[in-house]
Amino acid sequence: MAKVYFFDIRKKYKKSVMKMFDNLIDKADGLKILKKNSLCAIKLHVGEQGNVNYVNPVYVKRLVELIRKKGARAFLTDTTTLYSGNRHRADLHIELAKEHGFDFAPFIVADGLYGDEYIEKNGSKIATLFSHIDTIFCISHFKGHLVCGFGGALKNLGMGCAAKGGKLEMHSQSKPYIDMKKCTLCLQCFNYCLYKAIIKDKKILKIDQNICTGCCGCMSICPENSIKFSWDAASSDIQKGIAKYAADVIKNKKVFYINFVINISPNCDCFHSNEPMIAPDIGILASFDPVSLDQACYDMIKEPIDKLHPEIEPQEQIIYAEKFNAGQKGYEIKTI
Ligand code: SF4
Ligand code: SF4
Repeated sequence: MAKVYFFDIRKKYKKSVMKMFDNLIDKADGLKILKKNSLCAIKLHVGEQGNVNYVNPVYVKRLVELIRKKGARAFLTDTTTLYSGNRHRADLHIELAKEHGFDFAPFIVADGLYGDEYIEKNGSKIATLFSHIDTIFCISHFKGHLVCGFGGALKNLGMGCAAKGGKLEMHSQSKPYIDMKKCTLCLQCFNYCLYKAIIKDKKILKIDQNICTGCCGCMSICPENSIKFSWDAASSDIQKGIAKYAADVIKNKKVFYINFVINISPNCDCFHSNEPMIAPDIGILASFDPVSLDQACYDMIKEPIDKLHPEIEPQEQIIYAEKFNAGQKGYEIKTI
């Protein structure tokens, strides 16, 4: 049974919040994955433009300081989004990370400029950067989620470490298509596609679904946002995909997880608006097991999560993650 360390933010402590955060990492022995002069990635979500619920950068800054004190090097990372927001291309994502306060360590986009750089691992399209790094701190905001019920460490790993093509596989049953109503025939996508999957017939462009690999690079290239995809995968399939990708990302890696059950919003940090919170702040939890960690967080706010999306069974991502050997759901809480 994995240990899940818990800093209950609702209690009164003699020490400052930041000292308690240090205590949490210390008690959980989270820095033991580091070696002197080693390089580690801090996987996080910097929040979509307009969103303010993401993990407060002061905690991440503190983690970077602790890592540096151990003689290791840290950088921050995330992947580009599938949808066309302010993080769908690396340059935009880097700018937003800075704007949201993540300016104290290098921020590197894991799947390249257009989100099409990945290495296949067990069939999963994982952002290339993660194949070069074996030590990861996975920092997640635990909150409600439109299609999975909740989003925590598994979602941050599974969806968050996948390149655009992997995200498409999880969210959609088909490949991208071109909406000719908005297309200006600039041909940037046509010239970009390495696979020659975009076919031009007079004034019509079409993606050949048999040739297209679903890399989604063309979606980032298009200046008119006219390359679309269908969000047609069922919740259960998305949760299964997330669990499989999460297991594939962490295989043979040293990973320490911290979940922030703070600013418990109904939707994920990809939403650019802020809706009323569904539960009061609870605290910060940490573990070496992402499955027990998410299970512990879910158990703490099960009622509001289940009420929010009664048609979704959020436990599925945990059951699948156990099946794919990402961890185990049993846990023992150690309150610090
Ligand atoms: S058409 Fe398909 S293969 Fe070509 S860039 Fe777009 S998603 Fe990738
Ligand atoms: S990049 Fe966009 S606007 Fe330009 S040709 Fe392709 S689909 Fe049309």
